Amino acid sequence: MPRPEDRDRPLPFGQAPYDRHAERRADPDWYEHLARDPQARVLVVGDDVVATDGGRLRVLAPDQAVELLGVTAERLLLGADDAGPVAALSVPKVPADLNPRPVRSVVTGLDALHGSLLVHALGLANWHRTHQFCARCGRASQAEEAGHRRRCPACGAQHFPRTDPAVIMLITDGDDRALLGHSPQWAPGRFSTLAGFVEPGESLEDAVRREVAEETGVRVGPTTYAGSQPWPFPSSLMLGFSG
Ligand SMILES: [Zn+2]
Repeated sequence: MPRPEDRDRPLPFGQAPYDRHAERRADPDWYEHLARDPQARVLVVGDDVVATDGGRLRVLAPDQAVELLGVTAERLLLGADDAGPVAALSVPKVPADLNPRPVRSVVTGLDALHGSLLVHALGLANWHRTHQFCARCGRASQAEEAGHRRRCPACGAQHFPRTDPAVIMLITDGDDRALLGHSPQWAPGRFSTLAGFVEPGESLEDAVRREVAEETGVRVGPTTYAGSQPWPFPSSLMLGFSG
């Protein structure tokens, strides 16, 4: 079972200390308005990479970001913290002089604010990159709502960012031994708690029991929800359980 002192500890990216300001997304000129704020900052994300400055995220002024990356970069409104508004620009290739680094190598070293901003930006960027066309009629769709929705001009369909629920579970027995898995592709000695995607029409609790049974043959009894964590590699929401 989880230790009592761990139960209330926030998971990484589990408590985002900024306001998403969803009410500002409907303004089609939101980026221009944001650019007038001298405190506004812009992150730059690419294909699973992020612009960095040492071990931190590279932060640009809005006008500087557009000048460097062009007007075709996808514009994503992340929100605002106490220091001011924050947006991200997503581009297919982050210029080398912005020191792009793989998100996975950077994200775990960030504080709660910057880690949360980065997974928000990356989740949206991954979605736009792979959902350029309408799933209903096949025509090119357009981003709106400050990067939080796409609309098809041909058939009017609205498309929303994809988030795939996945359960991850710490299963223990009466002797407090944890059930772990090892993938054949992993290095020797690497083990992980079990995890898997939730299927359509399935509760989270049933997904925990099904995944454990499929992967190990072990039958799980009651389960307890522990917490959640966005994991945009490319688009998961991890839902933690014990059982
Ligand atoms: Zn369409």
